[in-house]
Amino acid sequence: DLLVVGSANADLVIGVDRRPGPGETVLGSDLAVHPGGKGANQAVAAARLGARAALLARVGDDGHGRLLLDSQRAAGVDTVGMLVGGAPTGVALITVDPSGDNSIVVSPGANARLTPQDVRAAASLFQASRVVSAQLEIPLETVVETVRSLAFDSRFVLNPSPPGPLPAEVLAACDPLIVNEHEARFLLGTSAGPDPEDWARALLLRGPRSVVITLGAAGALVAAGSTSSFVHVESPRVDAVDTTGAGDAFTAALAWRLSRGETLADAAAFAARVGAAAVTRQGAQESFPTAEEVLVR
Ligand code: ADP
Repeated sequence: DLLVVGSANADLVIGVDRRPGPGETVLGSDLAVHPGGKGANQAVAAARLGARAALLARVGDDGHGRLLLDSQRAAGVDTVGMLVGGAPTGVALITVDPSGDNSIVVSPGANARLTPQDVRAAASLFQASRVVSAQLEIPLETVVETVRSLAFDSRFVLNPSPPGPLPAEVLAACDPLIVNEHEARFLLGTSAGPDPEDWARALLLRGPRSVVITLGAAGALVAAGSTSSFVHVESPRVDAVDTTGAGDAFTAALAWRLSRGETLADAAAFAARVGAAAVTRQGAQESFPTAEEVLVR
């Protein structure tokens, strides 16, 4: 159903009372190591919902790479597209302070070595996928090649995170472009006013076929084709514990439902429930719900 082209990272998390200054050492909590990266997160989120999902990604020939392969397999993701070697597995070094704020250093590692050639070599995965989803934690030229490799009847979903400039060719393929408030503001620059409907209108003018703006607890705004048609999707009210991975869960759920032939508005409504479920539990991949868990909410 779904092919995710993206990143796979090991998230190394340490709790600290406060962050060290230059030249300083502080003691922290025991280390926690979690599988992460937006590509790996999306593939797991989709598989947990019941999707047939495959991940095209690159990890290092090391323990972190094996952790990522194992966690994808355990979730039921097709890992034939997971390539090994070229650099150490990507790592996010995360310190969390008592107020819950994160400071993060990312070493892209093998993610930076996922090449256009790797995409071309995965032609059979593209042929088998009705929807292809990407993010920007891999080289932009690899995302461009992903767009060029789409089967003629398949659909491309992009979450431009971390946000960066997007070539017109990539924007034109997005159906939808999925952004949160921060990413929307980055893409629109200082011209962005306060109203998400204005952002959606302005983003549509950049060329994507449709736009979805996620708005945290306020749900999401769906804008397609004619700039006058907006659909607001509600998020269920939940006790938010940890919003890590909510956007990844949302995007994966939406992409999967699109691959099943649902309308964009219906897919976004389902995705908002999946995103809301993901914030009720700690962590990223650990927090993703099954389809049953979404239905009973
Ligand atoms: P990101 O995680 O990329 O910053 P958002 O914060 O917009 O993106 O969250 C993505 C989706 O997750 C939202 O559209 C919503 O469905 C769900 N979500 C996020 N935060 C909450 C919350 N506090 N309550 C309910 N749903 C939430």
